[in-house]
Amino acid sequence: MQVKTDFFKKNYIAGQWIESSTGEMIISINPATEQIIGSSPKSGLEDIRLAIDSAAHAFQATDWRYNSAKRSEALMRWAAKLNEEKESIAKILTMENGKTIRESRIELTACIDTLKYYAGMARSLFGRSITPSAESYSIIDKEPIGVVGIISPWNWPAMLMIREVAPALAAGNAVILKPASQTPLTSLTIVKLVDEVEEFPAGIVNMVTGPGALIGNELTINPKVDALSFTGDTNTGKQLMKQAADKVKKLALELGGKSPHILFPDANLKKAIPNITHSIFITAGQMCFAGTRVIVHESIHKEVVEALRQQAERLKVGNGLEESTDMGPVISEKQLKKVLEYCDIGREEAKLVTGGNRLRGGEYDQGFYLQPTIFDEVPIESRLAQEEIFGPVLAVQVFKEEEEAIALANGTIFGLAAGIWTNDVNRAIRVARKVKAGTVWINTYNKNYPQTEFGGYKESGLGRTRGIEGLMEYTETKHINIQI
Ligand code: NAD
Repeated sequence: MQVKTDFFKKNYIAGQWIESSTGEMIISINPATEQIIGSSPKSGLEDIRLAIDSAAHAFQATDWRYNSAKRSEALMRWAAKLNEEKESIAKILTMENGKTIRESRIELTACIDTLKYYAGMARSLFGRSITPSAESYSIIDKEPIGVVGIISPWNWPAMLMIREVAPALAAGNAVILKPASQTPLTSLTIVKLVDEVEEFPAGIVNMVTGPGALIGNELTINPKVDALSFTGDTNTGKQLMKQAADKVKKLALELGGKSPHILFPDANLKKAIPNITHSIFITAGQMCFAGTRVIVHESIHKEVVEALRQQAERLKVGNGLEESTDMGPVISEKQLKKVLEYCDIGREEAKLVTGGNRLRGGEYDQGFYLQPTIFDEVPIESRLAQEEIFGPVLAVQVFKEEEEAIALANGTIFGLAAGIWTNDVNRAIRVARKVKAGTVWINTYNKNYPQTEFGGYKESGLGRTRGIEGLMEYTETKHINIQI
């Protein structure tokens, strides 16, 4: 079935598709072709306030928060609809974001899986009871928070929205979704499916597109929004945290990363090299937990850099709609310029191994294409090692002793993920326990499941998404006591 796109131009509020009060539009550009592919509302304060009121009303006036069977059924049916539309939405996602069609399918499959997981969890959310004394009986209840704002980025726009909205709904909240202005079409298409599931009461799911500084900001400061989930840049997250403090708003932050791989001399390189290459060049490096740094033992340094170079140069860069493409363009001209600036910085700070340029000519005449890029001997204090580039740029660092590798891994403000490559199980666990990151993969990378928690240490975030903790982020705990 082909997804119709006439609803792109409207917000979804109180179960209706409503034109924005501003009448203005955000134009969506395909980063692979620079062609216009659609437009969505550039909403104003009136629109977002209407959505907040709609969510608050639906939360109060319906049985949503008390009816876990209905919530479970609604999420299950949303998953089924998404499954039916997977291929057409994958195309929209690739055309809007630039990522390869294979990545888009993986992203949507993960969304379906996540909706199903939280459909089950909706029925399993329970508190506990306790008898503090013979005359006293206490219930520890788990309640939804109320109205939840969910602000998402553009890099994994479907997954990063679903991984928050699914637990928020499973717990019984009403939500207002604010997608990134680079990828509203994917998000609107997924929300269109909510409209087709009758178990969702009108107003429980709302979506308003528009500028972050206006629409996202209103979700942050409006006192009727009880909790906020933000996934995005660390600096934006810090700003939201300061603003949310005013109302002591509940906040979950999923922020940036600079995640390392540590390669010990006994690493299985046949496994490690393709995994590392994939971890940095997937979505053209625009992934929060991209494996942006390789910390390699000096004894295998030259061999590893040469193998990485060969893999990077073998990648087919192109339009993500081609099945054979390995790496698509970056999201925008602005992002391309930012990454190229980092490549110039890298030429000063370190040794360029491969890449470092924009691709031009022939099939690359249109589109924001970059070469897969590797820098070697990158000093830990350099900008290349410290800052989140959000592009296909890998930084290699060398170590002699285990403690040095750990210090390098922990030597940034971020702490999202890490990969450890060794056949020594004792060393793997010892190092995993010392690395300050929310996720540590051993002899693998990029393995995420709906049932396993994800989140950041240090400036990579606050709170956890996915799993049981991901559900708990969207609940309040209440003690009810009765004297008998
Ligand atoms: P961004 O912070 O620019 O934007 C994210 C969202 O916030 C967008 O919807 C945007 O419109 C909105 N926004 C922007 N300014 C705002 C403001 N002042 N008030 C409220 N909302 C505002 O981030 P981005 O460029 O879209 O995404 C890339 C970043 O996201 C990277 O840093 C990446 O590491 C991070 N990220 C983190 C995770 C994670 O799970 N930790 C996952 C994906 C992306």
